[in-house]
Amino acid sequence: MNQRISLPSDQDATGRTFGPEELEALRECLNTGTLTSTKGNFVRQLEVEFAKMLGAKFAYACSSGTAAVHCAIAAINPEPGDEIITTSITDMGALTPILYQGAIPVFADVDPNTYNVTARTIERCISDRTKAIIVTHLFGNPCEMHAIMELARSRNIPVIEDCAQAFLSTYGDQYVGTIGSVGCFSLQQGKHITTGEGGIVVTNDEAIARRMYLYINKAWGYGDAKPDHYFIALNYRMSELQGAVALAQLQKLEGVVASRTRLANALTTELSGVPGISTPALTPNTVHTYWKYCLRVDESVIPGGTVALGAALKDSGILCAPRYIQKPAFACQVIKDQCTFGNSRWPFTLARPEAVDYSRGLFEGTWNALEHVLVLPWNEKYTDEHIQYLADNIRRAVSSLTGQTVAAAR
Ligand SMILES: *Cc1c(COP(=O)(O)O)cnc(C)c1O
Repeated sequence: MNQRISLPSDQDATGRTFGPEELEALRECLNTGTLTSTKGNFVRQLEVEFAKMLGAKFAYACSSGTAAVHCAIAAINPEPGDEIITTSITDMGALTPILYQGAIPVFADVDPNTYNVTARTIERCISDRTKAIIVTHLFGNPCEMHAIMELARSRNIPVIEDCAQAFLSTYGDQYVGTIGSVGCFSLQQGKHITTGEGGIVVTNDEAIARRMYLYINKAWGYGDAKPDHYFIALNYRMSELQGAVALAQLQKLEGVVASRTRLANALTTELSGVPGISTPALTPNTVHTYWKYCLRVDESVIPGGTVALGAALKDSGILCAPRYIQKPAFACQVIKDQCTFGNSRWPFTLARPEAVDYSRGLFEGTWNALEHVLVLPWNEKYTDEHIQYLADNIRRAVSSLTGQTVAAAR
């Protein structure tokens, strides 16, 4: 029973869904001899199919999730020193684009149980300089979008949804990414589907769509009567090779999500009643698509808390990350020490002091979340046997740390 098994990993073929479909698409793509999306059809087709899948009017592929967030911000076009509210627990790729566009990231605290920002934590950050709100549906668990959209609409502030970890997650009857003004997705190696690196933005807003399209293309007006480079922008295009793989991956997305969700629900059932750990807190009326599976660990029940439980699981070959990120985003050097352009510290030099106040007392939810979360790697290729292995090892670790026997569910 204590035999070690190795879990599929999203970093290699054991936990990825590549097969003959991707190879065939690549062969077809290479045979055309056209690898730039400005001339080929694979990326274009990906955009059409992705938009259709989500029920969005427009989708544009780009080179990464970071690029996707950058496009969204560039489309909203903040003035230097404008503020963009974001979350203290996210990937740095969702934050540096704010600084590149000359805006100030203002961090909202998170709910310590869902690890997501809420309408209440966002509201505290709104000022007369707030230009946009970025919400991250962390780990695939949707934010409370109803309350957030109500707040944002009442202040006329656009919402960007970072869905890098939340493909096909739903809030009510809508896919996340289609509720706010823009949805941003990543196709990086470890996401639900992948092209190694890649990204996609979606929107229903024609003007935003146009600006995002231009931003990906050095703001060159392809197809216009008198094209020009209209504004400052980069080449953030996805290549046709990536588009071909992405198209094949897209056909597998629903299966990937269904599998991840089914497996997660099975683990949640297995772990019900295990003392000192809480299974993922779900927002009512949503579908969580489990980029990762998080446990919240109560150190008053389990001595040593997340760190001890993580270490015990590591001994079973379950490489979880006590703390998905080691520290809140604002504690990273780039933000803490304002390492930006030369020695200028710009755009932080334009910030209101309150916008860059990272005092501990303002982020109780964030510190609480990071101290208690244990992130299990999650994968669509887990089997029921893997779930059993995870559950058995978690129960065994909790038993040994608490000194109480933890029985299996059922
Ligand atoms: C992965 C990720 C990004 C960045 O995507 P890249 O493709 O790695 O640039 C942004 N936000 C979140 C929430 C992510 O998980």
